[in-house]
Amino acid sequence: MSKLRFDAIEQAFKKHAVEVEAPAGRPSEYFGELVFNREKMQKYLDAKTLKALLDCIDNGKHLDRTIADGVAAGMKQWAMEHGVTHCCHWFQPLTETTAEKHDSFMEYDWKGGMIEEFEGKSLVQQEPDASSFPSGGIRATFEARGYTAWDPTSPVFILDDCLCIPTVFISYTGEALDYKAPLKKALKAVSDAAVPVCQLFDPKVTKVQSNLGWEQEYFLVDDALYSARPDLIATGRTLMGHGSSKNQQMDDHYFGQIPTRVQAFMKDLEIQGHRLGIPMKTRHNEVAPNQFEFAPIFGETNLAVDQNMLIMGVMKKVARKHGFRVLLHEKPFDGINGSGKHNNWSLSTNTGVILLAPGKDPMSNLQFVTFFVNILMAVKRHGALLKASIASATNAHRLGANEAPPAIVSAFLGKTMTDVLRKLLTVSDDTDIVIAGKQAYDLGLVEIPEIFVDNTDRNRTSPFAFTGNRFEFRAVGSKANCSSAMTTLNAMVAEQLIDFKAAVDKELAAGESVKVAVMKTLKPIIAEIIDTVCFDGNGYSDEWPKEAQKRGLDIERCVPKMFLENVKPEAVEMFTKLGIYSQQELHARNEVKFETYIKLVQIEARVLGDLAINHIIPAATTYQSTLLKNVAMMKSLFPTQWEDLAAHELAIIKKIAGYNADIKNKVDAMVEKRKIANKLEDGYEKALHYYEIAESFAAIRRPIDKLEEIVDDNIWPMPKYRELLWIR
Ligand code: ADP
Ligand code: MG
Repeated sequence: MSKLRFDAIEQAFKKHAVEVEAPAGRPSEYFGELVFNREKMQKYLDAKTLKALLDCIDNGKHLDRTIADGVAAGMKQWAMEHGVTHCCHWFQPLTETTAEKHDSFMEYDWKGGMIEEFEGKSLVQQEPDASSFPSGGIRATFEARGYTAWDPTSPVFILDDCLCIPTVFISYTGEALDYKAPLKKALKAVSDAAVPVCQLFDPKVTKVQSNLGWEQEYFLVDDALYSARPDLIATGRTLMGHGSSKNQQMDDHYFGQIPTRVQAFMKDLEIQGHRLGIPMKTRHNEVAPNQFEFAPIFGETNLAVDQNMLIMGVMKKVARKHGFRVLLHEKPFDGINGSGKHNNWSLSTNTGVILLAPGKDPMSNLQFVTFFVNILMAVKRHGALLKASIASATNAHRLGANEAPPAIVSAFLGKTMTDVLRKLLTVSDDTDIVIAGKQAYDLGLVEIPEIFVDNTDRNRTSPFAFTGNRFEFRAVGSKANCSSAMTTLNAMVAEQLIDFKAAVDKELAAGESVKVAVMKTLKPIIAEIIDTVCFDGNGYSDEWPKEAQKRGLDIERCVPKMFLENVKPEAVEMFTKLGIYSQQELHARNEVKFETYIKLVQIEARVLGDLAINHIIPAATTYQSTLLKNVAMMKSLFPTQWEDLAAHELAIIKKIAGYNADIKNKVDAMVEKRKIANKLEDGYEKALHYYEIAESFAAIRRPIDKLEEIVDDNIWPMPKYRELLWIR
């Protein structure tokens, strides 16, 4: 019955680290070799084409058709030197993965043979059938056709034999059907809004860049063991499983020695990443057994998102080579930590200034405080919307589970910045903000300690934490496309900066100096945020949700209800005003969110029901029959003593009967709930019903996990946590 399990364990035991083939040279030498970056552009494009392309990348200038042909020719030459035979438009539909349709370079030469062709028109635009991608009704109202259009700001790269062109994906009528199109609009919006604010301090600023440094957490499980777990295969998480006696309680995995097989996987992944121009920097064991993390050096947000999407795909392939499966699900195992993807985020200027770090003089410090405070204000205004941007059926298991940020969006400032803000409220409007220790004695100035970046305290329980020169948004799910969070965050900040600048302009018009105008405008904002959205306490405590509610923060835990934030008037106004989403797009996207939520829970419900009924109950019944036979034999051999002698067996027989009945009743009830839910037409109503269904899983799982404790290990059908979780 459980041959699969035993074979899998045996196979897993026998595995050894796979030898990793490293390319010749140092990582800095092969870094980016599979990317058509500026160095390749210089080599493969003529001067006129290069200039036009750079103008397009750096300044958003239109690229005309003849130039596009020139770019395509250069790319083709470079790609063919790497043995590339195909090209594809690589895009990010609303499915949380990437999409690619390969076309070979092959064309008739009309002389009876074939040639390799790649023209500007294939580079710039393609027309995949959009009808099989989620669109939230947009395609029903219009046409099935969709367009992918080249995003020249994210460089073309080679995957295996294919030249991949990062593109946006839009409908026939121009609505975004992907994550990239709105992200790019949000990045432009935040730059447009931040530049005038920067110019108060430095007129040379003409562009502001949003930066993202993601930290990718993941689990690895042995390929063979994974294959023996239908729940992992179908849902990416274990729907049942009794906790391993040893899990993370000894804190011996975090930053521990990396297992040899895993180290080989990491090395291989890093090589692939480096060749693809992803500046992978950090790798380590995470808190839970079999949990790991890696992080690149941060970069421009659009590119960083693409690189994260790309590497998530590469990870899966590299993992298989090493006999692993990578689990990107936010909560693959109950009772141990889940995985997230911290989004380290900041803004910087074309003059090389990171706007979230103190500067060299009082005015640049004031600029830092200006951005700092406005970002916090944006989070106060739209905390619930920010939470909606990371909400999903899978991430719901992690948030609020005392291991990840709570399902409440607050911001951690640390003592230094809290003190700075509180002091600012008490000083006059023309006070300087200085770096501490640079002046002989306290002049009543607002001081920022000199060793600042290394000095910020850490608080792992906050979803939005200031960490010295950036905010770390920690609530993003490990398998999520960061675009969703980054679009909302940058949009929120853009809106707040626009409002802030308008208020400052009024003060300037009234004749105030820049310093006084900014200070005057900042103070009421600081007063509004300091005791509301700013929270340095323990986000895991039981008191926090109560306290947060008193502060007027959103504490919603129901995912479908969270999604409603996306279409509330404040959100619609913000997104439409900034030109990021139309009202129709927002509604359509929410339909996709409801649909996705429903489908994910539905799949889990089916798998859970199936496994419970056709794996677990039969195994338990088989064991029960063995016990019954034993009892029956006892009865015939020891007619007077059997009840005493078989007391233990009898107890287990009854327990199994009880658990089996409990499982069966609960699964039946769940199926009934699904039938009712499936009749509903309205996406939101249906999702709410599926939320209830998802909430019922734990109760079904409990008797199953109890059975795992008592049923003979030899007949238990699926690999147990203790087998899945310890890579040897
Ligand atoms: P942690 O100690 O939080 O786990 P890591 O070193 O794992 O830190 O990851 C930190 C991430 O933050 C890296 O990707 C790093 O490049 C990025 N980062 C550092 N400074 C900034 C910044 N100013 N803006 C955005 N990201 C940043
Ligand atoms: Mg880290």
